[in-house]
Amino acid sequence: MKQLSAFLEQDQRLIWHPFTQEKNAPLPILIEKGSEVHLYDADGKAYLDLISSWWVNLHGHGCPAIAEAIYAQALELEQVIFAGFTHKPAITLCQALGAILPASLSKYFFSDNGSTAVEVALKMAYQFWWNQGEPQRRLFLSFEGAYHGDTFGAMSVGRTSGFHAAFQDFLFETATLPFPATWEGDETVAQKEEAALEQLETLLKKQATHIAGMILEPLVQGASGMRCCRPSFLNRLMALLKAHGILILFDEVMTGFGRTGTTFAYEQLEHVPDILCLSKGLTGGFLPLALTVASQSIYEAFLGDTFSKALAHGHSYTANPLGCAAAIASLNLLQSPQTQQQLADLAVAQRKGVQYLQEAIPERIHRVRSVGTIAAFEWREPLSSPNSSLQRLKQDALEAGFLIRPLGQIVYLLPPYCISLEALESVYRWLAHYGHDLG
Ligand SMILES: *Cc1c(COP(=O)(O)O)cnc(C)c1O
Repeated sequence: MKQLSAFLEQDQRLIWHPFTQEKNAPLPILIEKGSEVHLYDADGKAYLDLISSWWVNLHGHGCPAIAEAIYAQALELEQVIFAGFTHKPAITLCQALGAILPASLSKYFFSDNGSTAVEVALKMAYQFWWNQGEPQRRLFLSFEGAYHGDTFGAMSVGRTSGFHAAFQDFLFETATLPFPATWEGDETVAQKEEAALEQLETLLKKQATHIAGMILEPLVQGASGMRCCRPSFLNRLMALLKAHGILILFDEVMTGFGRTGTTFAYEQLEHVPDILCLSKGLTGGFLPLALTVASQSIYEAFLGDTFSKALAHGHSYTANPLGCAAAIASLNLLQSPQTQQQLADLAVAQRKGVQYLQEAIPERIHRVRSVGTIAAFEWREPLSSPNSSLQRLKQDALEAGFLIRPLGQIVYLLPPYCISLEALESVYRWLAHYGHDLG
């Protein structure tokens, strides 16, 4: 115990944690071990990881197949410059992804995280036009509530996420479309969709030749609270954009690798994007790695006899071989019949779970939704404690051994795929009792 508090003291002295108001945040929990769906703190207390450790973990913590792949790769080649050099893990990973991605997405650009995957996508889209003598195409469209990361380009297209207030004056100009967020039993969805599409049509009429592209999180907006839209809406939106030759950029940093029930969210849509951003689940949650996958025609617009048309972008750890080895092992696991069965079972259990809660504590929750392995609902504060019960819920859940991290008023469950259905049911039962006891 004494040693533990010494560690935490040093943490507080030295470390600046992400997305944390350090003045009043509770002390961080010192985690010493992860195994399957559980994290264990220094006292041995277990926490069910219901947020996949910030949406990165797919197959559970300490997954031996991935750990061994990283170890074996580290003994062979841990890192090499990726300009002028290449390596088998990168090539094998792109081959494996190429077997499942649409043929039109054929060129793979590596970076380290979701934000950089988005920066690369934005730079590719803009320079695609610039290289072809259309530098006036500099406007990017994005959705209200979109979150695309914390670097400046990503913040610009995510300006309405609510996370970037201090930086508004630094962000480049974008146009924001309303996002027709919907839930079970939503009767206003068609109306919201029409309004969004109308706004897009007006914008296209006025400014189509000044628009570089539109970036979006397909099916589910993650950080703004697991806000869902209907596939049919995205089909219509994409058809409109394509008719005007506007590039479509999918940010599947969160939705990729099975979260929405299919390996990628675009599989549930009629059209394919021109650029696809992947990260988070790419390595199964083991190492930071990202990909920006572009169509052949985008790639070809960067070819020329001098460097001036090339994509002048790269990171020190581009295509780190350890990350690639982890990603290959994780993708193998994801495609195994066992994981595919887990995905299907989890989707059914999540849908049933939120419906059960809706019936059990209608006074406490509303706007329930589930898409594949993701479930979410809005928490209604009891009149007795108008705006604090959710913060308490988070702490009480941790006490009970459940790692839940509400986004605003939204509670969501986004667990690793290997969670047992019994464990998941225990969470829903706990939430029902908790909500019920609040009155
Ligand atoms: C998390 C996230 C990002 C940013 O990824 P980082 O690895 O945190 O930089 C970008 N887009 C979406 C949709 C995300 O959920």
